[in-house]
Amino acid sequence: MVCAVVNEGVSFSFDTCTVSDSDAKDSRPDISVIHIVGGTMQKPTIEDVRERYRKKGVDEKSQLNHLLSQYIARAGIKIVHRCVVLIGEFKRAPARAEFKRAPGQAEADVVTNILNAEEVPDDVDALTAGDWEAKLQVLLKEAIEDTMRYCAIHFIIYPSASEVIALASAGPFWQWATIRREQVPLFEWLSGLTVESEENEELRNNFNASFGHDYYVLTTAESDDQINKMRNVMFKLINNSHQEYPTFPTDFGFTLIPDKPKAQYFSVQ
Ligand SMILES: [Zn+2]
Repeated sequence: MVCAVVNEGVSFSFDTCTVSDSDAKDSRPDISVIHIVGGTMQKPTIEDVRERYRKKGVDEKSQLNHLLSQYIARAGIKIVHRCVVLIGEFKRAPARAEFKRAPGQAEADVVTNILNAEEVPDDVDALTAGDWEAKLQVLLKEAIEDTMRYCAIHFIIYPSASEVIALASAGPFWQWATIRREQVPLFEWLSGLTVESEENEELRNNFNASFGHDYYVLTTAESDDQINKMRNVMFKLINNSHQEYPTFPTDFGFTLIPDKPKAQYFSVQ
């Protein structure tokens, strides 16, 4: 927001300042996982400068300093490709104070009992437990809606991207989905809201539904399984989404950093 400042009694002047809009929606995800391809480079020498700039009559020493500062800033690594494979939004979990505890019972025990029980256990107030979980679902839904907006932005920024992973969490409770370009509703960017139309509303509902009804709880075996599945999808996206990389540089001994960790996932479909 730009505002005008009036210095009363002195003179009228325009000044500009930025004031964050408390109603503004998040424009950046809380987490992104980025696939990068890079290579190491040799430290530039005066011979490199002479080789590269011999016909241009440049100041060799200042040119070398320039190349050396670039080299240091990059830690000797040049990134030649990057793309986003996961976008996520983290919300807080509902306050634990929402529970009514039995005397002497720890808050963590109450949460564990609720998560492990098919029905609300005897020692937890049924209404309170239900309310707490309803609040959790609302926060997860809000996180999902945020990722929906980020996905829309993602597919604008990366016109060739066809899929991305969306992750939504509230405290340790989380959900994820693989989102295809055509699954994302249209947005009205001035308001940050989805365009009102029947078709868009359906896309929005389907987007939410693609996360499923279940949420996972970090550190559980089920959650670890899902993280492994998500990782496999990431490798699938990395392997499928770009057939061609840009031409790699050949100067300063550029050597591609090997891609060994993902090699074992080449067969992932
Ligand atoms: Zn990539």
